[in-house]
Amino acid sequence: MIKKSFLTGLFICLLFFVYGQSKSLPIIGISGTPGNGTSSSVPNTYVLSVLRAGGVPVILPINDNPAVLEKMISSIDALIMTGGEDIDPLENYGEEPVRALGEVVPARDAFDKALIKLAIQHKIPVLAVCRGQQMLNVAMGGTLYQDIPSQLRHSNVKHYQDIPGKYCTHSIIIEKESLLAKLLQTESTTVNSFHHQSIKDLAPGLKVTARAKDGVIEAVEIEGNPQVIAIQFHPEGPTSAGYDTFLPIFRYLIEEAGK
Ligand code: MN
Repeated sequence: MIKKSFLTGLFICLLFFVYGQSKSLPIIGISGTPGNGTSSSVPNTYVLSVLRAGGVPVILPINDNPAVLEKMISSIDALIMTGGEDIDPLENYGEEPVRALGEVVPARDAFDKALIKLAIQHKIPVLAVCRGQQMLNVAMGGTLYQDIPSQLRHSNVKHYQDIPGKYCTHSIIIEKESLLAKLLQTESTTVNSFHHQSIKDLAPGLKVTARAKDGVIEAVEIEGNPQVIAIQFHPEGPTSAGYDTFLPIFRYLIEEAGK
């Protein structure tokens, strides 16, 4: 009798051990950028933020092989979509490019769109940053302002700051019931800002969870899916510099990744 319960206890301990081992240090895939055109890279700020929050950062290099993309997604526990270039408007939401459109990288557009769709399909937690938020919206059927200064004339908020990303420069108002408000434990905060594009028509299935004072969408979530956080600002800037304001966003991602 004693022996049997002892063995059962040992077995349960072993289960917890194995479970704990497999779920601690989750692998966080970070979507690659073309770098200077000759490298597959990600800004180190994302890497440092994932490390700070207790995850294992891995770079996902841009490619267009469906089998490789599928394997990449099934090999990671969570996905971070990084910021970067403008999104090709004609290819992605059927709009002619305006003169103020910046550099676009078609190969990265296709890669990012495929990654986001696969991650949602496979129920992988996602943190979509800046361009990542815009791509999430486009992938789900929304559109973008190609250039805020020329297309959203009433906006007088500086969305492309001149000082380093560890500093926050404009305020945002956060929806009370949102996951973002819960994580940051506030309904208003100050964020950094490095974008001239933003969400115009919101895709079906998304809800706005934060806006800047000029109405620009600064965060969205997927209705009924608390595993996807999309934000227009860069939490990795302050987090990698040692500030704790946005650390809960990375902690949450890693927690969800470990489930
Ligand atoms: Mn902004």
